[in-house]
Amino acid sequence: MAKKQERRCSFCGRGESDGLIMLTGLQGNICNECVNMAHDVLVTELNKKKTYKPQQNDVPKPKEIKAFLDQYVIGQDEAKKTLSVAVYNHYKRISQPMDDEVEIEKSNILLVGATGTGKTLLAKTIAKKLNVPFAIVDATVLTQAGYVGEDIESILTRLLQSADYNVEAAQRGIVFIDEIDKIARKGDNPSITRDVSGEGVQQGLLKLLEGSMVNVPPQGGRKHPEQKMIAVDTQNILFICGGAFDGIEKRIAQRLNTHVVGYVSSNNHAKIDRQHLLQYISPQDLNSFGLIPEIIGRLPMVTYLDPLDKEALRNILTKPKNAITKQYIKLFKMDNVKLSFSNEVLDYIVDKAVEYRLGARGLRAIVETVMTDAMFLTPSDDTSELHITLDYAKEKIDRASMKTIE
Ligand code: ADP
Repeated sequence: MAKKQERRCSFCGRGESDGLIMLTGLQGNICNECVNMAHDVLVTELNKKKTYKPQQNDVPKPKEIKAFLDQYVIGQDEAKKTLSVAVYNHYKRISQPMDDEVEIEKSNILLVGATGTGKTLLAKTIAKKLNVPFAIVDATVLTQAGYVGEDIESILTRLLQSADYNVEAAQRGIVFIDEIDKIARKGDNPSITRDVSGEGVQQGLLKLLEGSMVNVPPQGGRKHPEQKMIAVDTQNILFICGGAFDGIEKRIAQRLNTHVVGYVSSNNHAKIDRQHLLQYISPQDLNSFGLIPEIIGRLPMVTYLDPLDKEALRNILTKPKNAITKQYIKLFKMDNVKLSFSNEVLDYIVDKAVEYRLGARGLRAIVETVMTDAMFLTPSDDTSELHITLDYAKEKIDRASMKTIE
């Protein structure tokens, strides 16, 4: 009897005896590895064709953008408005015809607000709404070329990665640079010590913010001579910078010629809201904090985020579309358990977050502590309903704080 002939891949020539799975067509065969390779080629080619160029009528209006942000971010109306307008203009700019006489210039944005007030959340939420590549980078890892740390150009590496290395798409993207205040100039005299992570980095950032051709190392980190670089034009990349600028209120107060405890400025009889001095922030304050004037000039839209009070924290716990309590309710529902929290528990969680000075960032950790035992036990029980009472929550939190004391 004739031996059954082995099927071979018509692309790579290897056969089933090489452990490959063969698909047979009318004229030939293809192995699983060639299918995978073809898939990768197709994804890359199709991605290159994506232009990320929105049509004028696709552009979401500022009110629409803000309404979207409202679903996820509590309060921070000023910052939301500024962001919505900036992003709307960004869209318009990237959809304008190239040969237009009036070229719309970009307006990068600076968000100033205490840590945990929602700066990153705002930037991330904006990214969800947009059809442009988006990257978040941390300014603290950046150093001037030649020193330990990451080159400034690595910021664009992240953007390229999120655009699957589609340069044209990356050139229309948005970058969120967090902790920009950490690269403030240290001290007033930069010549005493070399300020490689402060002013040096600001100088480097300048050329990115103002729009120029930048050679980007595709894998990030440090540039080295043998590496092949990708040229990226930053002209149409929107930069959103965020920072806590700890202590800047004092500088604002000084400028307003009033003490933090004062109420009325001497040369301006308008009432000054001394609880919320950040709303008066100006380029002058940023300069005295240590940002160089050229950088400030490249961040023409400055806005602020309010500190979160108890009411805001309480809302964060329950109101946003993906609020923490909603996430737990969903988790339990997947096990057919109806989970609910008493109002007192929610107030207690907020009080604890304030007591531990953790702000919104602490809410999740506290809820986690309350819920861990229930999450461990309930899936194996035949419980169909679980109501978290104040006593239950207190017991879990007290036990957890005993552990940290031990
Ligand atoms: P920042 O960047 O200002 O330091 P984040 O945006 O990272 O703060 O906030 C930390 C976490 O706190 C977020 O993941 C979010 O769950 C929560 N949070 C902070 N502010 C808000 C807000 N205004 N609305 C809803 N959630 C918030």
